[in-house]
Amino acid sequence: MDTAIADTTPLEYTEEVAVATAPLYAKVAGVIPSVEWPLHAPYIHAINRLKEQRNAVILAHNYQTPEIFHCVADIRGDSLALARRAVDAEADVIVLAGVHFMAETAKILNPSKTVLIPDAAAGCSLAESITGADVRLLREKYPGVPVVTYVNTSADVKAESDVCCTSGNAEAVIRALGADRVIFLPDEHLGRHVQRQTGVDMIFWKGACEVHERFTAEEVRSYASAYDDIVVLAHPECPLDVLDAADYVGSTAGMIDYVAQRKPARVLMVTECSMSDNVAAEHPDVDFIKPCNLCPHMKRITLPKILRSLQTLEPRVEVDPDTAARARRAVERMLEIG
Ligand code: SF4
Repeated sequence: MDTAIADTTPLEYTEEVAVATAPLYAKVAGVIPSVEWPLHAPYIHAINRLKEQRNAVILAHNYQTPEIFHCVADIRGDSLALARRAVDAEADVIVLAGVHFMAETAKILNPSKTVLIPDAAAGCSLAESITGADVRLLREKYPGVPVVTYVNTSADVKAESDVCCTSGNAEAVIRALGADRVIFLPDEHLGRHVQRQTGVDMIFWKGACEVHERFTAEEVRSYASAYDDIVVLAHPECPLDVLDAADYVGSTAGMIDYVAQRKPARVLMVTECSMSDNVAAEHPDVDFIKPCNLCPHMKRITLPKILRSLQTLEPRVEVDPDTAARARRAVERMLEIG
């Protein structure tokens, strides 16, 4: 295809595409039915060719669908991994297959690079729950109390913060601060979990992930009673009683490591739906039970949108340089801690 033209006509599944993408289908055959592959393969083929021409790299969050996660992404992981790897990206163009705050973080850490998000409306209920002005008001109300901000926030909010954290390093960040009291923003569930781990006094914000908040302890217990051998892994954005019903609590990266190292026979991942598919593709011997809570924001990212973004080099993510410089300090401080 002519890679300079952004076209909405569906691409054809030709013999050339079938042959070129066969090794990629082998990776996802367990989670993508063969009847669906001809819809994905032409886009995967076009994206992978255009990516090279643009000297672009695609970063994909663990909640992206398997055809994106396993077939076009160069760097995969949770928010922490994507933030770290964005720093090392050698490419001229970064395409963030995830939500807007992740693309902003990539831009903050790579101000000279072109950062694209295939759908600019891919938001996040946590990021939208709080503004920079809210943080300034909290600082006035609690003078001298350090502000720790989850990375699921806008650049404006990060710029008002002392240090960022992810679900993978929140405990380490709080311990490294060494403060008796912190303002923890904006995920109240994650904050309460970390408060229990660290014993630090915390001031919370009423933010929540609309996906993880939907899980209930009763639902988790019903799966546990239906399968004797099931291991329940839960993300700390879930309410505390859900975490209490789980065998393991950790970030998406922590859950992936758990499955890879312990190889349980049967697993329930209490997190976004695509995550189980992505892990199942690499562990066909593990039986994944999948209660399906989808993130509507993550699902805005599709192969045709990634292709179009690479063709047009739009939508670009821009962050005001002063805001970016202040936000970068909070993100870099996190990266130094771990
Ligand atoms: S899963 Fe939750 S925290 Fe993650 S992007 Fe979606 S709404 Fe935000």
